[in-house]
Amino acid sequence: PIQFDFKDVSIQYPNEKKAAVQHASFQIHPGENIAIVGPSGSGKSTLMQAMLTFAPIQSGQIDVNGKALSTLVPDSLWRQMNVSLQHNHFFYGSMYENLRFANNEAGEKACREALKKIQLSHFSLEDQVLEKGSNLSGGEKQRLALARLFLRDASVWLLDEPTSSLDAITEQDIMDEIEKATKYQTVVTIRHRLTGLENMDKIIVMNHGEIVEQG
Ligand code: ADP
Ligand code: ADP
Repeated sequence: PIQFDFKDVSIQYPNEKKAAVQHASFQIHPGENIAIVGPSGSGKSTLMQAMLTFAPIQSGQIDVNGKALSTLVPDSLWRQMNVSLQHNHFFYGSMYENLRFANNEAGEKACREALKKIQLSHFSLEDQVLEKGSNLSGGEKQRLALARLFLRDASVWLLDEPTSSLDAITEQDIMDEIEKATKYQTVVTIRHRLTGLENMDKIIVMNHGEIVEQG
């Protein structure tokens, strides 16, 4: 289990006049289900990047289980995470190869189940997904990226607008699957829609780089 503790964290990208995140303080306890909401450009993704050690922190500190994140070997943290960022990366190759990227031990059965959860079970595992004109749509790519998460054991799931390319019904079905798979996991989700927030343990509202509300 991992606990994150943001202590007065400010983040400023090189050559930017204004900080992307200003004086952010909040905690993420093991097993919590947290939503980060707020307008575009308000710093939501930057907060998530900071949890992954990818953000240029200017002041303040992030503690992970009481130790400064900046002193940890990031690999050991990443191994415990399941991450879906906005620009999902794909490989050429079959559905199967794409799924096994997440876990090269995953068997056929587990891969088929993952495809079912994200409603792509009409594809066969052998289908070449990015070659020969059988390209996936934006929504299908996003769903394939999410399918990978079901094949990995991770105590923390970080999801940056995981369903932004999906229609509302598919979105709901997939969020239900994610919820089922993460009863005991920590889940931090950046959300663009303000629906379905009632089951969250905590909502963090960002505006102009600041946390304007949390609870
Ligand atoms: P959100 O996720 O809420 O849309 P971001 O965290 O992506 O917001 O962006 C916060 C601010 O930081 C914005 O002003 C954005 O332009 C800026 N920003 C984000 N990423 C970078 C980057 N890699 N380099 C420079 N500025 C960035
Ligand atoms: P290795 O020791 O072989 O590098 P890892 O345990 O680091 O194996 O990763 C196993 C697989 O899981 C790799 O294919 C990697 O791309 C994928 N992976 C690693 N970290 C993450 C993550 N945070 N989210 C999604 N997939 C990941």
